[in-house]
Amino acid sequence: LDERLPEQDTGDEVGRLTSTLNRMLDRIASGARRQREFVSDASHELRTPLAAMRAELEVSLAHRDNADWRDVATRLLDDHRRLERLTGDLLTLARLDEAAVSRRAEPVRLDEIVAGEITAVRHSEVRPSLTPVRVTGVVPELVRLVRNLLDNADKHAAGVVAVSLRQDGRDAVLAVEDDGPGVPPEQRERVFDRFFRVDGSRDRASGGVGLGLALVRRIARSHGGEVAVTSSATLGGARFEVRLPSS
Ligand code: ADP
Repeated sequence: LDERLPEQDTGDEVGRLTSTLNRMLDRIASGARRQREFVSDASHELRTPLAAMRAELEVSLAHRDNADWRDVATRLLDDHRRLERLTGDLLTLARLDEAAVSRRAEPVRLDEIVAGEITAVRHSEVRPSLTPVRVTGVVPELVRLVRNLLDNADKHAAGVVAVSLRQDGRDAVLAVEDDGPGVPPEQRERVFDRFFRVDGSRDRASGGVGLGLALVRRIARSHGGEVAVTSSATLGGARFEVRLPSS
């Protein structure tokens, strides 16, 4: 969209048509830009009240031991986490769609990012096996990639999530596996499409919209890597594997 046609000042039909087309392209491009800015601004604005809500819920969970209230607050925290993930996913998608200006890659320890995100897994037992691995990447994007895979595993697992990170030649290989129902072979490519969900009715109840894995793939590719899903040989559920060039 940002590519205009070369204009020659020939003054004839073709010249006029070219400049008309260019004006139309400019208008479409600026509309698309405004839309991205809107998504980016809106999701950014949503983050402040969401952060405040979480703090209040956590404080109330720490100070009230009424069992009914704990049930309610725990469910609210789950809903809250989904909202936070959705706004975060939207914001990251909007930024990835922008030019590379605001994306700054730096050398990072991927194992430290993974270890930090594992602490947020709330429903499953996590079995980590992490070795120190360095990559060059955009930290908030790598955090989101890891978080989305862990959130999904936690959501679908029967009780166990295994996370491993190792070096394989020049690649960093991150694998997130669970003991849930897995992803059927015929859907293994489509789960990475925007807004695709394996079973609409099953997931709608849990609040997903199908952006998480699309974002994981965008981020993996923008870092020169790839993501794929198979089934877990050890746990029987899904196995998501991300390969990124290590540094
Ligand atoms: P959502 O936000 O709806 O979870 P995702 O893009 O993260 O969207 O996932 C897309 C689809 O892939 C979902 O419908 C979900 O059912 C399926 N999926 C993702 N992770 C797993 C997993 N670990 N086990 C089984 N199915 C999964």
